[in-house]
Amino acid sequence: MKYVDEFRDPQRAQLLVSEIGRIAEQLMEQRTRPIQLMEFCGGHTHTIFRYGIEQLLPESIEMIHGPGCPVCVLPRGRVDDCLTLAERPDVIFATFGDAMRVPGSQKSLLQARAEGADIRMVYSPLDALQLAIRHPDKEVIFFALGFETTMPSTALTVQQARRQGISNFSLFCNHITTVPTIKAILDAPDMQLDGFLAPGHVSMVVGEQPFEFIADSYHKPIVITGFEPLDILQSIQMLLKQLNEKRCAVENQYSRVVRQQGNTAGQQAIHEVFELRDSFELRGLGSIDLSGVRIAEQYASYDAERKFNVPNLHIADPDTCQCGEVLTGSIRHWECRMFGSQCNPQSPMGALMVSSEGACAAYYNFGDVDELLQKRARQASNA
Ligand code: SF4
Repeated sequence: MKYVDEFRDPQRAQLLVSEIGRIAEQLMEQRTRPIQLMEFCGGHTHTIFRYGIEQLLPESIEMIHGPGCPVCVLPRGRVDDCLTLAERPDVIFATFGDAMRVPGSQKSLLQARAEGADIRMVYSPLDALQLAIRHPDKEVIFFALGFETTMPSTALTVQQARRQGISNFSLFCNHITTVPTIKAILDAPDMQLDGFLAPGHVSMVVGEQPFEFIADSYHKPIVITGFEPLDILQSIQMLLKQLNEKRCAVENQYSRVVRQQGNTAGQQAIHEVFELRDSFELRGLGSIDLSGVRIAEQYASYDAERKFNVPNLHIADPDTCQCGEVLTGSIRHWECRMFGSQCNPQSPMGALMVSSEGACAAYYNFGDVDELLQKRARQASNA
């Protein structure tokens, strides 16, 4: 297939749905509970909702929406730290747009900008570096966010800043690592997942090898997956086929983009500029060993946490906000008591409602909100 429409072809989708139904039926002859598959990546969650993929699947398959949206797992304390930096009078704070509305304990970056902080929306770390070149009298801090997908561009920008001798540029580094996060999910005591759709963009950078432990040590099949509806359906079919054949392996459905060894130049830049943190807090999942990176010693002068006084706050979510329970799969998104009422995309209370890749925002934007609220009310009255 060459063109994007071909990855959305309804007839091909129907063939895959039939095959999924056939294999699922065979699997259910030996099981008493539904087949639970997790898509880790927020981009996959978005496709699943946008194209109504859950509605196409048999009832015996449950899609569990994982924590792979970097904005959604950003803890409130880090947002507050970020505001401390952004509100300094000598600073221009540069950020991607989807981080602007993430609520901290008091306000978001958007609110801080309305109050006068110099916060600029950029499309890449190189844009932030350009700001530093144009404003030599200011300190420009880039809010570096994301899994391994965005790490190479940040790393290459830091290398470029050093080559050009630019000293008024630094990063507030919140890059996070995929494998320790998946491992934390697999180690959860009540984990019942049967297989994973692995993140396609992350895999493009890291390759296939980092996911092998999931098949080898946890005996779960995993399929590296693209972002079109047929990609998702084909990956689900590949997972079910492995389960049916009692195999566990890393398979690559997204081979048109992901190479087995990944992007070695990107990996090299990551290893040169970043080093693993002992642990990093992810919203809803708590502190996870080796789940974040910071700037390596040799690039320390580009690290805003070393350059400025960052309070390193730890702030729990408000009791009413159930993002943590949603991220760990304890409740469905619409079961949160805030969903659709106090929390909606116009005034998000939690991070999962902020980003377009957030699963609560996906439920809100693509689901039938009234029906979900009625379902929640029925559940509450039966409890
Ligand atoms: S509805 Fe809002 S508060 Fe509740 S889990 Fe979703 S984002 Fe968090």
